[in-house]
Amino acid sequence: MVNLSAIFFQGGVALRLPPQSKFARLDFARRFATLCFVSFVAEFNSLPLESLVKRSQSAGIQAVRESMAKPKLSLADFAHLISPAGAGLLEHMGRRSQAMTQQRFGKVIRMFAPLYLSNECVNNCKYCGFSRDNPILRVTLSLEDVKREAQALKEQGFRNLLLVAGEHPKFVSNDYLRDCIATLHADWPGISLEVGPMEAADYRPLVEAGADGLVVYQETYDRKIYADMHTAGPKRNFDWRLETPERAYAAGFRRLGISPLYGLADWRFEAISAAAHADYLLRNCWKAALTISTVRLRPCAGEFQPLTHISDRELAQLVCALRLMFPDVGLVLSTRELPKLRDGLIPLGITMISAGSHTEPGGYTGAGKEKIHHTERGRIVELASGASEWAPTKENATNATGQFQIADERSAGEVAALIRKLGYEPVWKDWDAALTA
Ligand code: SF4
Repeated sequence: MVNLSAIFFQGGVALRLPPQSKFARLDFARRFATLCFVSFVAEFNSLPLESLVKRSQSAGIQAVRESMAKPKLSLADFAHLISPAGAGLLEHMGRRSQAMTQQRFGKVIRMFAPLYLSNECVNNCKYCGFSRDNPILRVTLSLEDVKREAQALKEQGFRNLLLVAGEHPKFVSNDYLRDCIATLHADWPGISLEVGPMEAADYRPLVEAGADGLVVYQETYDRKIYADMHTAGPKRNFDWRLETPERAYAAGFRRLGISPLYGLADWRFEAISAAAHADYLLRNCWKAALTISTVRLRPCAGEFQPLTHISDRELAQLVCALRLMFPDVGLVLSTRELPKLRDGLIPLGITMISAGSHTEPGGYTGAGKEKIHHTERGRIVELASGASEWAPTKENATNATGQFQIADERSAGEVAALIRKLGYEPVWKDWDAALTA
């Protein structure tokens, strides 16, 4: 059942619904919500997501063609593009997506690298190796360790960093994050964060220290599956997480990144929800550059198995559909995908890519290895050899446990060479603080 009343009666203003289709009313509601500055949670709660998914499942080829021909797409059009029928037009869609991407972004691919600061976490997320109940090898890097890791990435050519950390106020405090950013700021023109959600007031010192981007995956837009996946910790609050990009924008971040984690709920449901979220952010946080990632679940400690499947071909269809829906939004591809698929997706619409990634703190240099430990109920426990299946062995005696296994193990240099071979220019630095004034 579609509940539009929350939007139509905002601020005590009652409006008569336009006597049109459900989807025309949806568009009207969206525009009205924008005028009233309603948060995405209110808009999300009013979305006819089930109808849109059904519309996607049952769309015919003619509906897909008509949607593709439109200069500006609605959510219903997006649902058509990702439909089973749309798969039959993938080549056509791919050509349109490629041409549109080159027209808006040029033939360039922006490079970035994740730098994991800590794998401590207070949350239990069933799909994540860092979950607090997993007896993994943990560490939080010191500032010196962070500098060492960053230097190794700089030597590979990177100038855009994504600082990643689990959510653990004791080990990953706001002051610690600010110090990490301040330490790196002079050498790194692009610093984004993927850390536990905060209040806008807590984000501001991080922006002032030099962070310019904030990435937050909703993981799943399905409230029921979200509740089932997040069994303990502050991350259980779905709405708080959903509003995070808005708080980040209010704090001054000029890049925002969102995505579901494909493999939890039905992929079309997730894609339509993410498209609605992106549409909202483009209307309401319009000074920020938006990116959408296309991340699928990977094997990790805890051995969680994906609940749903999105095939390689469907992932390609999704990339094209996102491009046609959002001509100016950056599309991000990580090392979660195998080299062959990554090479094929790049020309379809991808604008940003990671390479040579490690998902464990200290992964690039072995920094912090002398401090590796277990954490039990927030307390550090010294390692005893054989205490867990992740305890040090001769072959794996150096690093903390990674968040997930990567699939593309090529070095940054190899990926950059491949990008050039495809006719694109790898861009390591695309911004300078001097341009901000
Ligand atoms: S997904 Fe994030 S919050 Fe959840 S356990 Fe992993 S690091 Fe912690």
